[in-house]
Amino acid sequence: MSVKTTILGEVLNGLLSERIKVVDLSQILNEKTPVMKLPEPFANTGGFKLKPLSNFDEKGPDFYWNDFVAGEHCGTHFDAPVHWISGRDHDSVDTMPLNNMIGEACVIDIRKEVSENPDYCLSVADIQRFEEQHGEIPKHSWVLIHTGWANFVDDHEKFYNIGEDGLPHTPGITKEASIFLAEERDILGVGVETVGTDAGIAGAFNPPFPNHYYMHKANKYGLAQLTNVDQLPAKGAILIVNPLKIEKGSGSPVRVIALVEKE
Ligand code: MN
Repeated sequence: MSVKTTILGEVLNGLLSERIKVVDLSQILNEKTPVMKLPEPFANTGGFKLKPLSNFDEKGPDFYWNDFVAGEHCGTHFDAPVHWISGRDHDSVDTMPLNNMIGEACVIDIRKEVSENPDYCLSVADIQRFEEQHGEIPKHSWVLIHTGWANFVDDHEKFYNIGEDGLPHTPGITKEASIFLAEERDILGVGVETVGTDAGIAGAFNPPFPNHYYMHKANKYGLAQLTNVDQLPAKGAILIVNPLKIEKGSGSPVRVIALVEKE
């Protein structure tokens, strides 16, 4: 085989020589996979369930397979603009441009702030601090908010962090930061480690769940329940995010992978 000199060949050579590492940013899907829990009277999504069909038995002696049931917003998943009232005339998972499934990741680390205050929301000042260090967040990139919350995925008490007020106390993003990223930086969307891209208490914000409101209004996306964000550099990793092609789907469980160039 000849040495490839095309751009795609360079990528393949990088993968084969392990100069490019592939990082899995998706959580495992099983019956324990956490899902968003909304208060009454709102409808809630079901979790992930596997329904065995056959396992080399009388129902299929030569084959193992299952059906599964899952919410569109179950586990590591993608939020499409039509998920929100402000984006209802925009794209669903089946109509989004394919180009938008691939983009750079900018990882903003707020683990320290979140460890001191679980309700902490990424601010415009946090974004500016990131940009002073790493340069401007490029158009067509994902902004991943690194909170460390993925560490709690197996401990539902910590992961949901329901307070005495009955509300989930989990981190998010300020309305001002969402507007800044959607309008001033033209990003693809925001990714988080929690069940949704807004803070747990953001139902009481104005508007409610402002990141959903402003991102989806601008035809941008969300990624929830990511893991292994700590394996990404602050900038330069390439994210591949391809939701299922559900007709008019508002979202989809997604296997998010990142290509990371080794230094
Ligand atoms: Mn969602």
